[in-house]
Amino acid sequence: MSLRPRARIHLASIADNWRTVRASQTGGMTAAVIKADAYGHGLEQVAEALHFAGCDHYFVAHSFEGELARNTLGPHPTIYVLNGPDPYEEPLYRQSALTPIINSQPQFQTLVTWLQSAGKLHGGYGLHFDSGMNRLGLPIGDAPKLAAATQGMAPSLILSHLACSETAGNAMNAFQLAEFKTAAGQFPDVPISLSNSGGVWLGPDYHGDLSRPGIALYGGGHPPEGLPLKPGMTLEAPILQVHTAQAGETVGYDATHTFQAATPLVTIALGYGDGFPRSASGKGFASVEGIRCPIVGRVSMDLITIDVSAAVALARPGVFAQFIGPDAPLEEQAALAGTIGYELTTGLTPRVTRIFET
Ligand SMILES: *Cc1c(COP(=O)(O)O)cnc(C)c1O
Repeated sequence: MSLRPRARIHLASIADNWRTVRASQTGGMTAAVIKADAYGHGLEQVAEALHFAGCDHYFVAHSFEGELARNTLGPHPTIYVLNGPDPYEEPLYRQSALTPIINSQPQFQTLVTWLQSAGKLHGGYGLHFDSGMNRLGLPIGDAPKLAAATQGMAPSLILSHLACSETAGNAMNAFQLAEFKTAAGQFPDVPISLSNSGGVWLGPDYHGDLSRPGIALYGGGHPPEGLPLKPGMTLEAPILQVHTAQAGETVGYDATHTFQAATPLVTIALGYGDGFPRSASGKGFASVEGIRCPIVGRVSMDLITIDVSAAVALARPGVFAQFIGPDAPLEEQAALAGTIGYELTTGLTPRVTRIFET
């Protein structure tokens, strides 16, 4: 048996989550965001599973991710590249029929050069307007100018991105929606896309023609109470050793934790070398056969020690303890480590074996 940590990837659950997002939209289509190796779940495998479920629109951040997706998905689906094109990438965009998202004036120039050199792009192109996030995108005030400049070469999608979609009450959402609608109004017949996962939960006004959920597909984020999203992965690692620390002894690097009483401990083959954050030291937990056991002391590169007082009879070498999954909710574990679900799953390193389950 391998003593490596493993992430069992629940492809059927990811497909179910995509259907759940789609069912909670009152209008528009549902894309899938599969950037960063599908948030650490495996870009190709996730793309294939979602394609089988009926998803025809995918978003990646980089053109190389788009190429990977194209090779997996075949010729039909639309693959948008969020970060936009570099002048030298024309062959790649054309060969893989990728849809560049234009985020800036220089990227618009790149697009115009490509269209002039070899005609229209098979996958079309999108225009991304910055409606208030100040991160990436064309200035929203440039919409009239761009509408004029794209006569005869209309975009296939107009998009923007919400800064505060996870906080329903934040006034920023309504502000960005209004700004976006004004800009999109300059392109009367072009489909619009505003919402990530959180945006979908904000309701029908935000659904547009195409939503762009990412984290919801992987069972993270903060969906409405009662929505049955399922964990996209189970991160688990084997118990290597069972032992007992005596009262007054300490555990781990820097001896940060001192035991008040004799305490049964197990040491598990998972650490920050696998992408499990060191900031979970003394804060996170593992589930041993459904029983929660706190991490004690520091998370080290290859090892974590947990207090198994509540699960003594179950904790044996070779048993896998769960750190993310049905018994260890992603966002709860992430919050204990001072981070978010996105960072936890994308941060898992190649040392974690991915096992794909359907
Ligand atoms: C990453 C990303 C998404 C997906 O966001 P989630 O919060 O994971 O649903 C959507 N749109 C853009 C522009 C993104 O960068």
